[in-house]
Amino acid sequence: MIWTPTETQRKLESKILAEISKDELWKHVEHLCSIGEKFAGSPEEKKACDYFVKSVKEYGVPIEVYEFDSFLSYGRGPGDKAELSVTYPENFSVKCQSHAMSGSMPLIEEELVDVGAGESKDYEGKEVKGKVVLVDFAALWAPERLYIAQEKGAKAQITISGDPVIHDMVVTTIWGTPTRESSARIPKIPIVSVTNEDGRRLRELCKRGPVKVKMMVEVWRGWKKVRLPIVTIKGAEEPDKYFLIGGHYCSWGDGMTDNVGGDAIFIEMAKIFWKYRDQLKRGVKIAWWPGHSQGRYSGSTWFADNFWEDLNKNCVACMIIDSPGVKGATRWSSHSSSDLYQFNKQNTEEYSKDIMGEKIPVRHSTMVSRSGDQSFTGIGLSSLGSGSGIPADSPLRGKTTGGSGGGWWWHSLNDTIDKGDKDLLPLPMKMGMINILKVCNSPILPVEFEPVADDYLQVSKELNEGARGMFDVSPLINRAEELKVEAKNLEQYLSKLMSRYEKFETEEDKERFEEVFKAINESLLKMTRILISTFNTQCGRFEQDPAIRIPPLPVLQPIKELATLDPKTDDARFLKTGLIRERNKVIDSLDRAIDIAKVIQSIKV
Ligand SMILES: [Zn+2]
Repeated sequence: MIWTPTETQRKLESKILAEISKDELWKHVEHLCSIGEKFAGSPEEKKACDYFVKSVKEYGVPIEVYEFDSFLSYGRGPGDKAELSVTYPENFSVKCQSHAMSGSMPLIEEELVDVGAGESKDYEGKEVKGKVVLVDFAALWAPERLYIAQEKGAKAQITISGDPVIHDMVVTTIWGTPTRESSARIPKIPIVSVTNEDGRRLRELCKRGPVKVKMMVEVWRGWKKVRLPIVTIKGAEEPDKYFLIGGHYCSWGDGMTDNVGGDAIFIEMAKIFWKYRDQLKRGVKIAWWPGHSQGRYSGSTWFADNFWEDLNKNCVACMIIDSPGVKGATRWSSHSSSDLYQFNKQNTEEYSKDIMGEKIPVRHSTMVSRSGDQSFTGIGLSSLGSGSGIPADSPLRGKTTGGSGGGWWWHSLNDTIDKGDKDLLPLPMKMGMINILKVCNSPILPVEFEPVADDYLQVSKELNEGARGMFDVSPLINRAEELKVEAKNLEQYLSKLMSRYEKFETEEDKERFEEVFKAINESLLKMTRILISTFNTQCGRFEQDPAIRIPPLPVLQPIKELATLDPKTDDARFLKTGLIRERNKVIDSLDRAIDIAKVIQSIKV
């Protein structure tokens, strides 16, 4: 239900926008860049943490710092080593570096096999057992390609950067700290990366005939103490409820564009929200995550694990800010989980012209974006945010990047302060604060479920086609249609309630409505939890899916594989049995959401 802001809210928005100062932001940027590279668990990371604490305390903002051990690795830290040379048909050494979480290996000499992009299909017809594979670097999905190489029996991997620089990366497919079960996925084989130029030379050699390389890798992996500073500003009317804002502060290089700009924004947001805290119905929590860059999101997952109950019950939505204020990054976009699509669209259309100078496009993507520290989809938190990228034809644009607005310097020592843009940095902060303020102050939370039902419908229909008659998807399609109807009914019910509330005559009337809204909001949150986690995750609400590409309704995707199998085989029958169980789970999720929508509508005010 999207709320039409009152005059008071409009004034608050203007006051808050006027408080945002690019000079204040840049002061933090300069300091944080001057600290240098902020590896998780390093003295530099601690210096940054101390700076956040000191900066917000000057304004009286309450901040806590959680300290815990985190499973980390650097790839090119003190003591890490990597060597690579070609020994046949030519003799030369190649500049290379390894990556965080790589396996280690003493010096070996083996044949090099080019497997192109390094996807599973690229291995067809190639014998790689015990050999070294040559693969294109794949930014955020580099870990997936290393995992594939390991599964195929390769001894080691060399990746080719798309750019003149080698991009740093953490190459484990485990999201956050491993569990006993997921620890089996910690990389066993080593990896090094080479520049684009060197990589092409290796590729050319492979085209001409057999190539042999000598290679060694030694990479540290282990536990170090990290610090998670978090500001809590309680809301004036619903002190337990909060909007979660966060982004990482560990970095590769100085980290100007990934993510010093975000860290500066958090300090300023904390100051401004604190100043206007008596005008916030619900509060905010602002977190600087450690262990993102060198622990594969270990800070945000630690928070998700250890504050699961509170997040589940009280967090109304979240926003991840990663890589704002990048030089040349003028291509804006806005995204959200589907329940906030209409809300985000309306605000972005209304405010982006003033803030960004153009109406920026709003994506209705069926999946919640997993970039940044999106460790909260399992819990089922709604999320929204905006981002900006460098246009594809710009010389600043890199080819294999996964952040920094696509800048070629992403995840390298070149991510220095000159890659930032002081004028662009405040813009996503302004857009973000408008959205956050509205979520915090909306009498009824601004979630809507028709776009969510559309996602379920669209993917169920795709699965139905993919099943080619081998699996019955119709119960799912029916439920998704039912959810769509109930979502519409719910919206009508809530808007009627809202227009009655807006005309309240006595203070008692107002309070009576607001009490009811609290109960309604609790139910709306339950609906988001169920629908977001079921649609977006394979592992459900208490685990973290691996850091590999996950399709929508992942538990049902093997339906497409079933259609390719002989139905009489054991394999097909076993798969079908599992799929029936998964279908039951999804239907149950939809049923529970439909029931909640009906119960809300039965509330008489
Ligand atoms: Zn980042």
